[in-house]
Amino acid sequence: MSHVFPRHCHSELPTAVAGDGCYLIDADGKRYFDGSGGAAVSCLGHSNARVRQAIKDQVDKLAFAHTGFLTSEPAEALADLLIEHAPGDLDRVYFVSGGSEAVESAIKLARQYHLENGEPQRRHLIARRQSYHGNTLGALSAGGNAWRRQQFAPLLVEMSHIAPCYEYAERLETESLEDYGQRVAQELEDEILRLGPETVMGFIAEPVVGATLGAVPAAPGYFARIREICDKYGVLLILDEVMCGMGRTGHLFACNADNVQPDILCVAKGLGAGYQPIGAMLCSKSIYDAIAQGSGFFQHGHTYLGHPVAAAAALAVVREMLDHDLIAQVNSRGAYLETQLRHRFGQHAHVGDVRGRGLFWGVELVADRQTKAPFDPSLGLAGKLKKAAFAEGLICYPMPGTRDGRVGDHILLAPPFIASEAELDQALDMLQSALEKTLEAIQ
Ligand code: PLP
Repeated sequence: MSHVFPRHCHSELPTAVAGDGCYLIDADGKRYFDGSGGAAVSCLGHSNARVRQAIKDQVDKLAFAHTGFLTSEPAEALADLLIEHAPGDLDRVYFVSGGSEAVESAIKLARQYHLENGEPQRRHLIARRQSYHGNTLGALSAGGNAWRRQQFAPLLVEMSHIAPCYEYAERLETESLEDYGQRVAQELEDEILRLGPETVMGFIAEPVVGATLGAVPAAPGYFARIREICDKYGVLLILDEVMCGMGRTGHLFACNADNVQPDILCVAKGLGAGYQPIGAMLCSKSIYDAIAQGSGFFQHGHTYLGHPVAAAAALAVVREMLDHDLIAQVNSRGAYLETQLRHRFGQHAHVGDVRGRGLFWGVELVADRQTKAPFDPSLGLAGKLKKAAFAEGLICYPMPGTRDGRVGDHILLAPPFIASEAELDQALDMLQSALEKTLEAIQ
């Protein structure tokens, strides 16, 4: 009997014993194509030699130094590299152990920035419905996904949630994509005015919504308008690229595709590519300066900040991406994946939408293509599809539909950047077969 506490208590999980390129291998020798990189983590696959070597070298040299006392070479070099490529005036990097910690840090930094600036009344964070920012209580409060929040609602901090930019389900037929983007962006200004502009500290959003909507980019012009509104009212723009950043959507930083510059940017997942747990919060010079010239102390911290081994792994990950121009490969393989997805599923009676960017794609399943009506959530379609795909040898990330029927079941694909076209074809063969079996079983 296993003593590990699994997420699904009644499932018998196979034991992963090895990784080989895009594949995970279990104790019985079965190979699984990691079509979602776990949860958009394993961007370099599972056996990258350079990253493995960097970890070994760092452990031999220095395993740990607490950042309350010392900095370390890999953390400094990684911060320099990220800042060299970061958008706008992002100037400082705060390393953490994962996505939720990055978001928690961002929320607290936003609050402290306003305090140091003499605006203690700024306390409201505005986020979006159907977003996911992590499972710790602050990040979960920011997230607007009802299913994930439900049980913990009494523990959550009150935050405002406006509409996501989710054109498949919510754009009116009479509206252009651009007009739709402007309409939903306007909800931010309306909410700021409702709360009182002098009380709002920040707005948080994912440039490409991952876990809750399945790779949904914003409409053109949406983020430009969001930036304008934030500037108008002195509200900090926090972009959460924990899932969509670090090359996943075809740019090192996802917001570059939307040409928007955040005040605070969160990354994780692809940063360590699964080789080590690491996340980062990047902030603008003016935010850092406000604290440096104010109290001089960011009132936040965790034991493993800037962990040298995690930083060494991430440094090797980012160098590998840049040296081998893997982001260009994300764009070319991504274009191939998009073509194949549209070819195989674009006209499928139960596929409502295929959307994404780079190597980050969502397939939304519907009961009726015409009306876009989702399947009855009690069927648990996404979970069943995940299981059927896994049986075929494909790992893909499922998300159940919402009970209010606003979002259908969908699955997310986020394969490693090193996947070949032939491997993507095989993965899609497995997905197609799994989808047909799953639909047959529920009808
Ligand atoms: N933010 C986004 C956009 C995410 O997708 C996730 C995880 O899926 C998180 C934050 C939380 O990251 P972690 O699971 O590393 O805490």
